[in-house]
Amino acid sequence: MIIKKNKDTIQNYFEDNSGLRGAFADFVAVAETEDDIPGFLYEMSKSKTPVTVAGALTGNTASGLAFGGAVLSLEKLNKIGKVERIDDKNALITVQSGARICDVKLKTFSEGWMYPPDPTEKNASIGGNISTNASGGRGFKFGVTRDYVEALKVVFSDGSKSYVKRGEYFADKNGGITFDTNKGKKHIVLPKYRLPAVKNVAGYYNYPATDLADIFIGSDGTLCVIVEAVLKLIPHFKEVFGGIIFFETRDSAYEFVDKIKTISKKTEKENLKDSISAMSLEYFNKNALLMIKSDYPAIPENVEAGIMFEQDIYGDNFDILMEKWVEVISAVGVDLEKVWFASNLVQQEEFRVFRHKIPERVNEMIRKTNIPKVGTDFAVPDGTLREIVDFCDKEFEKAGIFNLTFGHIGENHLHANIIASNDEEYKQCKQMCVDIAQKAVELGGTVSAEHGIGKLKHILLEKMLGEEGFKEMAKFKKSLDESGILGRDNIFPKDYL
Ligand SMILES: Cc1cc2nc3c(=O)[nH]c(=O)nc-3n(C[C@H](O)[C@H](O)[C@H](O)COP(=O)(O)OP(=O)(O)OC[C@H]3O[C@@H](n4cnc5c(N)ncnc54)[C@H](O)[C@@H]3O)c2cc1C
Repeated sequence: MIIKKNKDTIQNYFEDNSGLRGAFADFVAVAETEDDIPGFLYEMSKSKTPVTVAGALTGNTASGLAFGGAVLSLEKLNKIGKVERIDDKNALITVQSGARICDVKLKTFSEGWMYPPDPTEKNASIGGNISTNASGGRGFKFGVTRDYVEALKVVFSDGSKSYVKRGEYFADKNGGITFDTNKGKKHIVLPKYRLPAVKNVAGYYNYPATDLADIFIGSDGTLCVIVEAVLKLIPHFKEVFGGIIFFETRDSAYEFVDKIKTISKKTEKENLKDSISAMSLEYFNKNALLMIKSDYPAIPENVEAGIMFEQDIYGDNFDILMEKWVEVISAVGVDLEKVWFASNLVQQEEFRVFRHKIPERVNEMIRKTNIPKVGTDFAVPDGTLREIVDFCDKEFEKAGIFNLTFGHIGENHLHANIIASNDEEYKQCKQMCVDIAQKAVELGGTVSAEHGIGKLKHILLEKMLGEEGFKEMAKFKKSLDESGILGRDNIFPKDYL
């Protein structure tokens, strides 16, 4: 273990993408091998020293930032193993937690395989992606990180280790699971709250018959240190067809999305060939498009909304599929002059850069104001998206603070970013996010579908699970992290411990 204490050399561990200031630690411990971790955690537990695991620190909720104690960095544990082919459709790859998702994607792509989770920030670590259950644009078809984790090697704060293979341990009807570690058995009982039936990362996972692996995925550094993961791969598509459609009304954008979702579901359910099956459906509102107009002057005038779509193609049916997309686009009354089409991977990558430009520009604005980012991460059930977007609009109009919305409309999951320019506006923005979260909960949705709760969104999670939920989570955390040292203040306030 390398121990760093010099203030100048450890300063870069105290900033992430949340913009939260003031993080600090007594020292940073950089693991050189996996074997460094059990003894380190055992010692930290004994002395009750808080430990915050730092991945690549690209998180949006300050969950990787320490406020005292030690930072544990896994940056040197970044080995990526060989692709192990199982059959034509399935393969596995073993990676250490410090590996970056871009390197995993590149390695698997070069061998014809795909690691489907696709969060926008490709410098994030696999450990961070697993701990936040990251998703991204292609989640509409491929799901989230959780869906591609086959096994995890984890270390608990008492220094015990476990290899958790999916399918080996499930919660019984009372939520109880007993599992093996190298130092004997552990018994845990899951919290009893009900989580919403939408894309969700808020709260410890407790859906019926929970697989033990799923408990650690999305646990935001609070239950264990993830050292290594076995990831599932699928064959990489041959081509991609996609585009960006500019709509004059938001209603026609919604109508288009509804049509494509219905057709895509039918295609997948009935395994239809030569039929539309969207890989991603990404939304930009007018303000988001206006913000990047200087980068992309060709964005048409008088547009209210944009949708970027992608379809993955495995055979030689490119032309047939293109015709089908054009048919649906025309059916909702869009002038084809207002559509940019991409007909190969290179062009589609340019559109992905367009999509990524939006969070990048937001981050630049945030850096200039020096005020933390305020944004929503809600997802709501099918049929309720219009209601929550209208609600947001009314809130934004009342406040008169610059805002923009973009995100994963295929999963009814949008990020409204509200950019405060002073402390007073920041307070207002935070209150608006609480009100929007409350609305999402009333509609049967979640307050966080991909970024997590971290240290900044306790108040939103309280709207969803209440104080009772916090108490249940604290009790559950203690059953795995008895000394309560891991990821303190992440997910629920540390006072509950
Ligand atoms: C421009 C931009 C775009 C983004 N787009 C997306 C997106 O599309 N989808 C999305 O989901 N997120 C997105 N994010 C957020 C961020 O990239 C993800 O949350 C990512 O998963 C964080 O990974 P990280 O390695 O940076 O983790 P960190 O930020 O360092 O840590 C995040 C959490 O994981 C814990 N952790 C890290 N490694 C381990 C480990 N080995 N064991 C236990 N706990 C660990 C930390 O303690 C912390 O709680 C974006 C961020 C940026 C800057």
